[in-house]
Amino acid sequence: MTKLLTIEQLNIGADILKNGGLVAFPTETVYGLGANALDENAVKKIFEAKGRPADNPLIVHISDYEILNELVTEIPEKAKLLMEKFWPGPLTIILNKTDKVPDIVSGGLNTVAVRMPKNPVALELIKTSKVPVAAPSANTSGKPSPTKAQYVVDDMYGKIDAIIDGGNCEVGLESTVLDMSGTTPKLLRPGGVTFEQLTEVLGEISKKFECNDNEKPASPGMKYKHYSPDAKVVVVKNDFENYINKCCEKYENVAVICYGDIKINKKCKLKKVVNSSLEYANVLFSAMRDFDKQHPDIILAQDVDDTGINLAIKNRLYRCCGYNFYEKSN
Ligand code: AMP
Ligand code: MG
Repeated sequence: MTKLLTIEQLNIGADILKNGGLVAFPTETVYGLGANALDENAVKKIFEAKGRPADNPLIVHISDYEILNELVTEIPEKAKLLMEKFWPGPLTIILNKTDKVPDIVSGGLNTVAVRMPKNPVALELIKTSKVPVAAPSANTSGKPSPTKAQYVVDDMYGKIDAIIDGGNCEVGLESTVLDMSGTTPKLLRPGGVTFEQLTEVLGEISKKFECNDNEKPASPGMKYKHYSPDAKVVVVKNDFENYINKCCEKYENVAVICYGDIKINKKCKLKKVVNSSLEYANVLFSAMRDFDKQHPDIILAQDVDDTGINLAIKNRLYRCCGYNFYEKSN
């Protein structure tokens, strides 16, 4: 049985974590599926519940710097600057790990990914449990990450010990992942802290999140299909209104996510209209999950540029559609 907990019952969740169980909890990015990061058996259960490949490492969530010193061998000056500026917040930093971090957490790598979340429920849960909490997104592997407790229930009910309902997640996309373990910082996943914000602090950063079959991915998670609803998704790069009309002739049930200035064919009943990049980021995964429940024939999503949070939206969109695009050539 999975216990459904309110934020007032957070102590129960903390006890479960302490005793080697699995607890899903809200963070400002998406819901996480947590276990005591120092307990190998507990962490193993995360992989089982999610159906996550064993070589895809987990992010360890912390509430204070004392725990951090037990997890990493050293904190480079530049990483300290990042922590001062962006922690607590949606930035995951990869550093060289100590032997205390079990291999199952790091997928056998010498490094560990750490983050101090901003969501007060997440922070309080970690603090109360008194353990570092390994937590990937609380979805079945491959599905869109959950941004509300109900989506965690949809994927995880019966498979984990408890779910803490903390309402909607603020950002709606997973954290930025930045590798600070080598000489140059590498951006492995764009997220809530933007590339521009990071370069302002660090200067040059290499981007390593595009992945093709010939290249060894810098982050193991990049090689897997991700964020995908059951329905076919097409990311539309231009000529959107005409393409919607065409799809509405061809299909019965077309779903659309786009900005408010797009005129959507009246036959389209499933639509999510956004008015800013932050809103697009915030509703992208929930729209995909809500659409899926109505079994659309196709989901059309409007493409975005590379600036600010758009880079993260684009990254999730492209993987969500499996690099399936529509673009009218001139
Ligand atoms: P999730 O927990 O589902 O948000 O996924 C965590 C992401 O961080 C995945 O893409 C992992 O591959 C990546 N990650 C975690 N630890 C490391 C690490 N030590 N080195 C490189 N990537 C990592
Ligand atoms: Mg995930």
